[in-house]
Amino acid sequence: MTHAQLHSPAGEADDHFHDECGVFGIFGRQDAAAIVTLGLHALQHRGQEAAGIVSYDGSQFHVERHVGLIGDTFTKQSVIDRLAGNRAIGHTRYATTGGSGLRNVQPLFAELADGGIAVAHNGNITNALTVQRRLQKDGAIFSSTSDTETILHLIATSKERDTNSRFIDAMRQLEGAYSLVALSAKKMIGCRDPLGIRPLVLGDLDGAWILASETCALDIIGARFVRDLEPGEMVVVTKSGVESLFPFAEAGAATDKSRFCIFEYVYFARPDSQVEGRNVYAVRKQIGAELARERPVEADVVVPVPDSGTPAAIGFSQEAGLPFELGIIRNHYVGRTFIEPTDQIRHLGVRLKHNANAAGLKDKRVVLVDDSIVRGITSLKIVEMVRNAGAKEVHMRISSPPTTHSCFYGIDTPSQDELLAAKFDVEAMAKHIALDSLAFISIDGLYRAFGEKARAADAPQFCDACFSGDYPIPLIDHDKDPVQHQLSLLDERE
Ligand code: 5GP
Ligand code: MG
Repeated sequence: MTHAQLHSPAGEADDHFHDECGVFGIFGRQDAAAIVTLGLHALQHRGQEAAGIVSYDGSQFHVERHVGLIGDTFTKQSVIDRLAGNRAIGHTRYATTGGSGLRNVQPLFAELADGGIAVAHNGNITNALTVQRRLQKDGAIFSSTSDTETILHLIATSKERDTNSRFIDAMRQLEGAYSLVALSAKKMIGCRDPLGIRPLVLGDLDGAWILASETCALDIIGARFVRDLEPGEMVVVTKSGVESLFPFAEAGAATDKSRFCIFEYVYFARPDSQVEGRNVYAVRKQIGAELARERPVEADVVVPVPDSGTPAAIGFSQEAGLPFELGIIRNHYVGRTFIEPTDQIRHLGVRLKHNANAAGLKDKRVVLVDDSIVRGITSLKIVEMVRNAGAKEVHMRISSPPTTHSCFYGIDTPSQDELLAAKFDVEAMAKHIALDSLAFISIDGLYRAFGEKARAADAPQFCDACFSGDYPIPLIDHDKDPVQHQLSLLDERE
């Protein structure tokens, strides 16, 4: 099996690799499901393909899962009415077509010996396949290919007596990068992986506790931001309040070395979110400014590739003292380019999404700023458009280092052989995209934007595996190349 097949839409096992998601939960508030719907709407950028909400009304759980955008599926009064109760959790997800059936949409819900439990997570359990196979050998039946189901099984089969201990028992057997919310009859649980790779925050709405992937989901309902969960922290919300536990640290795992995902700052999180004490927009502007210092260019205008490149382009233009122009206009009624499963559609999607605005480009030396080049399709189309609109020169500056490695921790980068920067050096990329010049921020420059001198090679502040190939969580086995190892497991499975 090749990497390409692994990430092709047809592969069921894809789900273990594609988990761009948003999670949201609220405990102790009437109309909980309506509030979760709003929260998920604010997290829609984290996953647009499907969403689910599970509520509990004091005697029964209610489950709704739908393929499509929150605004199209969950805002119907009938759907919200079916989700009775004063506590609910929800999830919005990205999925490839092969795994996009409803059975894989979270939260997953199961009736266990001591009551129902629903689980949803953002991220990727890196040893899910190994654990799943072990459970299957012992007779467990799996109905989805989602690693969330592995969590449910581990909770179900735990020999511990109370919900907290069963949950902890399960989580200690799993490795990976995840932020998770769970709902039982009496509790809402939130948990971040020991390295805190994926985000999760605690909020409060007039005494009702909230868990959410990002603070923008608190803003939408006027909730108060309380704090980020700490890496390896588990919070248990009950009627009597919030209890904080550190189950991994107790088990001896080092949880002091936080490795938050740097790509959340570069691209994934919404710019108006506060992530681990920093405003994402401010960080992106800083990266843009650093990029302008590191990789200046003689040009007449700075043009962002909207929307993801805009904050960095603003920082770039301010630092370079060059005018900022909207030379590309984005159609907001088209989802993210990546949602489309085939290359053909993806090509088409890019043109549906962006159009050159000649008024800002004609006869100008243009420097385009974008956050990242993944497959290079966006850049290729955009540069062609900008030239056709009469630009004299087209330069490109990217506010992240070359994406040379796939993410196995919850960001939907394609397999390595589809990554332009894995195939070409910067010069060849520039030629391929037909640019007058192309430059990326350096990895040290990226860390400088966060106030560091450089990337600390022995203890970097972030997970930057997509740029460095330094994977902080071994994909099951230290001795093997993580990618190859994961692939060999998949081979065995099929
Ligand atoms: P490319 O066309 O080079 O494959 O994609 C680059 C564009 O995709 C960039 O403008 C960037 O904003 C966006 N992008 C980067 N990473 C991701 C990702 O993980 N998921 C999605 N949906 N889009 C991404
Ligand atoms: Mg973009």
